[in-house]
Amino acid sequence: MSELIDGKKVSQDTRAEIAEKVADLKEKTGVIPGLAAVLVGEDPASEIYVRNKRKACADCGMHSEEHKLSSETTEDELLSLVEKLNNDPKIHGILVQLPLPDHINETNILRAVTPLKDVDGFHPENVGRLVEGNPRFVSCTPAGIIKMLDYYNLEIKGKEAVIIGRSNIVGKPVSLLLLHRHATVTICHSRTRDLPEVARRADILVAAIGRAKFVTEDMVKDGAVVIDVGINRNEEGKLVGDVDFENVSKKASYITPVPGGVGPMTITMLLWNTLESAKMSAD
Ligand code: NAD
Repeated sequence: MSELIDGKKVSQDTRAEIAEKVADLKEKTGVIPGLAAVLVGEDPASEIYVRNKRKACADCGMHSEEHKLSSETTEDELLSLVEKLNNDPKIHGILVQLPLPDHINETNILRAVTPLKDVDGFHPENVGRLVEGNPRFVSCTPAGIIKMLDYYNLEIKGKEAVIIGRSNIVGKPVSLLLLHRHATVTICHSRTRDLPEVARRADILVAAIGRAKFVTEDMVKDGAVVIDVGINRNEEGKLVGDVDFENVSKKASYITPVPGGVGPMTITMLLWNTLESAKMSAD
């Protein structure tokens, strides 16, 4: 039976550390880290997400703002709001909640956020710095995964890491982070031949696919560390990951649950990046 990687606990401890650092920064420099969330249209899931971010900021003593725009907002209107936030000294992190309505070009918007406030790590400059091995802001879910592995003292160096999924927000950046920490990294995707065979090589297996129970026990080596990024709803409407938790947890040495695993770390790392940004601006 495996040990749980408790994302809630890691998140709680990390947020306590952030709160201390925020208080310290405020005392020494007068700077209060500020995060602006921009929401276009009325997506209930995004609204919950943004509300959670507001609460998390308040708990850590950070300033936060929400900019809710109607679904009819034009790309130019959104670009001018982003420009205003780029120049606002109270704001150190800008988050544009995705997805955006179809008539707005997502790439144009994400590139308009100054890389110095791009706490989601989506701007090409920040992606480039990550590839280079000199990261500024790393996208939050991958950064949270590394934080969890470190919290549990799980060795990365020299390990075989297999990542299932090659998205820009999870699969690719987590692969780079593991590579920089000296893992031997394989990235799998929908065209990978004999995926179970590749997955079984993993000492660290990361599932970021978006399909419930995709990773079954026959795909997991005994004693592997299994990180489940997936967020899916099953037939009963319950939140489940990409991993068949019940059976895989009998083989893995460590495993993240869903919910309560990777999820809570994403907002925590957003706060972390906003704090880092505020520190940079204070310097
Ligand atoms: P995505 O749809 O952008 O990417 C999915 C990846 O899975 C693709 O690269 C694709 O090649 C791969 N894939 C699809 N079918 C496959 C198959 N049959 N075999 C092998 N690979 C296959 O998704 P994403 O944005 O990376 O998110 C993945 C999952 O993680 C989703 O469930 C999402 O909701 C969740 N997620 C969770 C958090 C969090 O905070 N916990 C953050 C981001 C994403």
